Amino acid sequence: MKKISIYFLVLVTIISFLTAGCISEQTENMNSAGDNVNEVSTSETQIDTIYQFSVIDALLEGVYDGEISCEELKVKGDFGLGTFDDLDGEMLELDGVIYQVKADGNVYKVDDTETSPFAAVTFFETDIKDSINTEMSNQELAPYIEELLPSKNLMYAVKVTGNFTYMKTRSVAAQEEPYPRLVNVTKDQSVFEFNDTEGTIVGYWMPEYVDGINVPGYHLHFITADRTAGGHILDYSISSGVIEIDSCDGFYLELPENENYLSTGLSVDTEGELEEAEN
Ligand code: ZN
Repeated sequence: MKKISIYFLVLVTIISFLTAGCISEQTENMNSAGDNVNEVSTSETQIDTIYQFSVIDALLEGVYDGEISCEELKVKGDFGLGTFDDLDGEMLELDGVIYQVKADGNVYKVDDTETSPFAAVTFFETDIKDSINTEMSNQELAPYIEELLPSKNLMYAVKVTGNFTYMKTRSVAAQEEPYPRLVNVTKDQSVFEFNDTEGTIVGYWMPEYVDGINVPGYHLHFITADRTAGGHILDYSISSGVIEIDSCDGFYLELPENENYLSTGLSVDTEGELEEAEN
């Protein structure tokens, strides 16, 4: 009788272990958005979590050392924006493909080994969808999208696919060390203007409290439907399209460890340089 009890206990213990294993494995699979994220801890790659490398203040101060590879970024998200090593152009990730819009105006597909000093990506899942059927300027669409946001206290990935009667973007040229401040680089930025173009806006709307870490309000990049042009958006007007918003309640920040980052003083932006560099 005693022997049977022990066997029973052992059996129950084995079943418990097996069941626990199954449950934890299921949880991991549910949290990952694809096969390629299996080795990454779930906190960094959860759906509705924005993964960001470095802080915008470091970019303002001229920390352009690429540190995270595009291969690593693609494990953190399939949608987002940023820049490249030496500030070599504007980055845009859409449907898991990373594009580089260089200062020459051309779009390049990047190698997995290329690196970034600043990027924010997420696995895009549409939570809110709306359509545009009338001509709207940037000044009209921006508040229209804000009206769709359920709260100004969350972070949002924003995607707008449509026909643009006007689009004005910019890109920046690769810099050499010692790196100049971002506000000085953007004084020499290349500006591109398009009329009647089809494409996708990729970016974020973030609350005021991200000041210093990311860009409060909108930070949007653009790529044409044929993937031949785009950049950091300065202005646009849209005639028709679809707005998709991914509401994000998670934010994972990873900081660089390169020498420039570690030794640069990240001061408060009292001169309004972010506004000047981004807009
Ligand atoms: Zn940008």
